[in-house]
Amino acid sequence: MNIILLGAPGSGKGTLSEFLCEKKAFTQLSTGDLFRDNILNKTELGLKAKEFINKGKLVPDSITNSMVEKYLKGKKKDLIFDGFPRTDDQALALDKMLEKLDEKIDKVIYLDIDESTLMGRLTGRMICQICKRSYHRITRKPLKEGICDFDSGTLIVRPDDKEDKIKIRLEAYHNQTAPLIKFYKDKIIKINADNCSPEELYIRVEKVLGF
Ligand SMILES: [Zn+2]
Repeated sequence: MNIILLGAPGSGKGTLSEFLCEKKAFTQLSTGDLFRDNILNKTELGLKAKEFINKGKLVPDSITNSMVEKYLKGKKKDLIFDGFPRTDDQALALDKMLEKLDEKIDKVIYLDIDESTLMGRLTGRMICQICKRSYHRITRKPLKEGICDFDSGTLIVRPDDKEDKIKIRLEAYHNQTAPLIKFYKDKIIKINADNCSPEELYIRVEKVLGF
């Protein structure tokens, strides 16, 4: 079974994907890793991608798609897609690649979560100024408020985690995801991710996937 995970930053997508890989032998396709591997191994695609990255430009879809296609030929079953596809065009390309391999996207899991819950989760993040370990106001409190447990460094809120920046990130996410939700309308399963622990979320997903 191949699935796509859609969910805003802070929706619990990362942990869910880890659980699925651990417990159900899924493999997560990460375009970040694909880029790193291709660049590190100096493949033709990696070298092309690097040219764009070095110029500070976006890597064109054609390069990303080719990397994914090459990867799929090696491992084409029980995949979790997270962060790819990002656009209609990529989704269409992915469908075609999978079809050639006699595979398809079976389900698209959309983690639906209340905006205020997200703000609460995302704005609570703090990192240690010294060791960069991360903490959270509610879910991962330090022993002493504002102080790192390991080296007594001061905990700070990253500029990216400030409320106005988070609003911008969420808005970008919604703009990006809306077309995908439409594209996959026949395969989407909406799961309410409010007020539930990573374990509870996993159980909900397990149920809808029929495990
Ligand atoms: Zn520290």
